[in-house]
Amino acid sequence: MPHEVDVVVIGGGLLGSALSYYLSIQGVEVLLLERGELNREASGTNAGSFHFQIALHQLTANSSEAEEARLFGEVKLQLDAARLWAELEKELSADLGVHTTGGLMVAETKEELQVLRDKQRIEEMAGLETHVLTGSEMLDFAPYLSNSLSGIAYCPQEGHANPLIVGPIYAARAYENGAQVRTHCPVESIEIMGTSVPHRFAVRTPSGIIRCRRIVDAAGAWTSEVSSMVGLRLPMGLEGLHVNVTEPHEHFLNPMVQHIGKRLTLKQTSNDTFIIGGGWPARRENYPTRYSNYWDSAAGNIAIAVRVLPILKEVKLVRTWAGIWAYTKDFAPIVGESAIIPGFHVAMAPTGFTLGPMVAKLLAESMTSRSPNRLIPAAYSTDRGM
Ligand SMILES: Cc1cc2nc3c(=O)[nH]c(=O)nc-3n(C[C@H](O)[C@H](O)[C@H](O)COP(=O)(O)OP(=O)(O)OC[C@H]3O[C@@H](n4cnc5c(N)ncnc54)[C@H](O)[C@@H]3O)c2cc1C
Repeated sequence: MPHEVDVVVIGGGLLGSALSYYLSIQGVEVLLLERGELNREASGTNAGSFHFQIALHQLTANSSEAEEARLFGEVKLQLDAARLWAELEKELSADLGVHTTGGLMVAETKEELQVLRDKQRIEEMAGLETHVLTGSEMLDFAPYLSNSLSGIAYCPQEGHANPLIVGPIYAARAYENGAQVRTHCPVESIEIMGTSVPHRFAVRTPSGIIRCRRIVDAAGAWTSEVSSMVGLRLPMGLEGLHVNVTEPHEHFLNPMVQHIGKRLTLKQTSNDTFIIGGGWPARRENYPTRYSNYWDSAAGNIAIAVRVLPILKEVKLVRTWAGIWAYTKDFAPIVGESAIIPGFHVAMAPTGFTLGPMVAKLLAESMTSRSPNRLIPAAYSTDRGM
């Protein structure tokens, strides 16, 4: 364990691993500390979907100009993320299971169809390609969908990747570029030594104290716990999330399917199983206990899936799992250096599989730039919960 480094990154999920990679390729000295094993929390338990279209979890009942502006900004970030994912396998020289299958957002009612049309207008302004289809045009395009749907929005850039691979590959590439990686190394406390000291933070772990110039808190659902070690309060909440997987079935579904009004995401994987999720609750337990599932979530989630894709009636559900998810109350990621605690940074994103690589790249660019404040939108401010 080193005694002194430039940057300590706390958390070996996708965000911490990706950030360690983007910093290390810029020649920054990085130490990545993970409490358990790499990629074992949200980054290794998620459904692997790319959410580039505006999705249910981003919508509120309010349709003001300010809401439109927020959604516009979010689509811009999602578009940047889509561009990054399109090049990522080449950048990391690895098969990450990226499949650009396109994505369908389904609507069941007239009101939901109107939401698809409204969001399509914002997506178009932001430069994201989406198309709204109804009636026979919809069923010609996606004949496996229920004919009772009122419409769909199609985004050709959506798809999915393998969450079991992406984070660990980033960590491996970070290591190859000089980053130090320590697992089973929880950060227990952080002491601020004083502004005039070059290595101003003392990070306490069971393996010793590390002094560093900068810290990045990338601790996922525990980001606010780590930030509270230096007195910062973050506008975050936590939820246990449920996912289902079925037996394999003859392959017929290429696009990822989501619902604009109900909790549903659905895809057929390359081994022909269906992964069905979309934000149904799971029982959250205290670490290190794993998260347990509610039967109600399995039943509710599958009922919607069968309604949208009737052929699923013939397919058996074989397994469920759950993970812990962190969200922000205003939907925006939390990214950047705190003005209250200079040198202390946060990297957290609610749709963090989709946005994690982009958010990590943005933060690394800001940390290696001479004018960092201009790179990260003010809406992502680390200090907005104070
Ligand atoms: C079931 C489920 C399905 C999801 N589906 C999708 C999806 O389809 N698409 C999508 O875009 N997003 C999805 N998400 C969200 C996405 O998975 C997360 O937003 C993302 O993985 C967060 O990554 P992270 O690196 O911030 O957090 P994590 O992966 O949770 O990593 C944080 C790490 O920090 C470590 N840590 C915590 N405290 C400390 C400490 N004190 N010291 C050292 N280490 C510490 C933890 O052990 C953990 O490994 C889903 C989430 C869940 C739970």
